[in-house]
Amino acid sequence: MSRRRKTFPCGHKGYGRVCHRCDQQNKVIAEKKQQKQRWESTFDRDPIDLKNLPAHVVVKARSIIAGLESQKNYRDFNGKRLRHNRWIISIPVTRNYRMICRDCGSLLIPEAVLSHEQYNVDKPGC
Ligand SMILES: [Zn+2]
Repeated sequence: MSRRRKTFPCGHKGYGRVCHRCDQQNKVIAEKKQQKQRWESTFDRDPIDLKNLPAHVVVKARSIIAGLESQKNYRDFNGKRLRHNRWIISIPVTRNYRMICRDCGSLLIPEAVLSHEQYNVDKPGC
């Protein structure tokens, strides 16, 4: 068996037919790409747009949406009605994000997740 160290086209040195360093690197990249695609495909199932939000905000927002869909009360999530529009409910998602929901009588429809900044600039339901 020849165990001669050779230089691969990529410039790395090593044994075997392919460069194991690059092979490993490619696997990591492919895996990351797959993970990203899997993550992105989960947004198709959300009733509101949660893309562009930090992952922990997305996870928390989804648990609130799921709770509301299973008839949990918005007060369980510390939600409050806006003083100037009683049909809009603001639920804290994290310290910096709030979910805006519209009260449609028997059910609560999530409308958006807003950052603290967005929320203050563009107060919904005014
Ligand atoms: Zn290489």
